[in-house]
Amino acid sequence: MSTHNILILGGSFAGIGAAHYALKHTIPQLPTKDGSTYTVTMVNPSKDFYWRIAGPRAAVSKQLMPSSKLFYPIEPAFAYAKDKFTFVQGSATAVDAATQSVTVLTITGEQKQISYTALIIATGVSTPSPLFTQTTTADDLIITYETFQKSLANAKTIVVGGGGPVGVEVAGEIAEHLNGKPGFMASAPKDPKAKVTLISADKKMLPILREDISKQAAKFLKRLGCDVLYNTKIVAARQAESGKTTIQLSDGNTVEADIYVDATGTRPNTSFLPAEWLDNRNRVDCNGKTLRVEKAGPRVYVVGDVGSYTRGGVMDQADALPVAMTNLKTDLIALVDGKAPGPDRHYEANLSEQQIVPIGTGKGVGAFGGNKLPSVMVWAIKGRDYMIGQLAVPTVNGDSYKKEKKWTPPNPAMKAGLSKG
Ligand SMILES: Cc1cc2nc3c(=O)[nH]c(=O)nc-3n(C[C@H](O)[C@H](O)[C@H](O)COP(=O)(O)OP(=O)(O)OC[C@H]3O[C@@H](n4cnc5c(N)ncnc54)[C@H](O)[C@@H]3O)c2cc1C
Repeated sequence: MSTHNILILGGSFAGIGAAHYALKHTIPQLPTKDGSTYTVTMVNPSKDFYWRIAGPRAAVSKQLMPSSKLFYPIEPAFAYAKDKFTFVQGSATAVDAATQSVTVLTITGEQKQISYTALIIATGVSTPSPLFTQTTTADDLIITYETFQKSLANAKTIVVGGGGPVGVEVAGEIAEHLNGKPGFMASAPKDPKAKVTLISADKKMLPILREDISKQAAKFLKRLGCDVLYNTKIVAARQAESGKTTIQLSDGNTVEADIYVDATGTRPNTSFLPAEWLDNRNRVDCNGKTLRVEKAGPRVYVVGDVGSYTRGGVMDQADALPVAMTNLKTDLIALVDGKAPGPDRHYEANLSEQQIVPIGTGKGVGAFGGNKLPSVMVWAIKGRDYMIGQLAVPTVNGDSYKKEKKWTPPNPAMKAGLSKG
């Protein structure tokens, strides 16, 4: 008789989804004839799930985005499976594939070894700006927001680096907060309080979206008093003791800003993993079909933004997670019963033009499934509350994965017939 632990590193969108999926759908289908039992352990630095999607508005205004809407306790969301679920507040600091164990530094400074039969890496990514990453507790991020909001109150020049969705969203939120909402027909604020500039390394913003959507985004930003500088990279940004930041640009110019927000990309949280498990972008290198981390030994999987298989984003996880969890189920059945119950399930990336980007509280741009969305729809889906009303609670309590995402394995007889031509 043995207890098999499914250890999940990371407690955000991917880790929480994987834990609910394992408890609701995977474990009930695993063999118990030999007395095997199964548990899920999650390791995450914060005990609260952070609704990162709302970071651009939360950073700027606690009136518009109070912390009560941003953070959701993780452990109570698993009360329905409390005999099988353990939450450890801490960070993984090392993984040993030979002994199948992970070293964890807990919030209280204790070092723990946690064994696994299956390991799911869901440690995500960090942003260069502290405004969009919860590194420790919710309280720490709330303090970061309060400090930022104080400095924003008197700022006259703000530079946002990075023309991706986070850069566009935060530039819009800052510009509207400082310069106000423009009149119905206005193309720019009459008397702007602050000069906001968004710097894009590319000739357009929002790489996933077509050019005319980027142009529409620039128009909406302009209405709020934010200009866009294209084809310009941030070479360096140095903050002086005064708080001002000097920003060196690739065109040779230097600008000085009261506030600089670095939204130039993300960095995978993989420093605790063996270097051989990573790809050349420091993401967890996995089989792009099965989401197994093949270099890591048996029963190691990756889900979410930290994986090499994905261009990132929460929507993609709805396609990836059932794949990783089906293959994990297959592998655990093979371990206990000695025979895999079927073939691998395969992930297929949805690379359609798909992104929704609010610009301030009233406008926005985007596309879904390759179709351009009108601004009012962007507002209705995301801009009014950054999707908290629809999705935050179902994400944390597991309702997003209430049903198993069904899959019918290909019929082996049919496959054999086809391969014979
Ligand atoms: C400002 C912003 C807005 C966004 N808006 C959207 C949007 O509108 N739509 C969309 O689809 N996507 C959006 N994204 C992307 C989306 O947030 C990511 O796709 C999502 O957060 C990825 O989820 P994840 O669980 O893979 O990783 P993360 O959310 O990065 O979470 C990783 C978790 O692992 C924890 N962790 C890190 N290191 C360790 C360790 N060593 N041990 C244990 N735990 C660890 C972290 O603390 C964190 O809790 C946005 C991103 C940002 C930054």
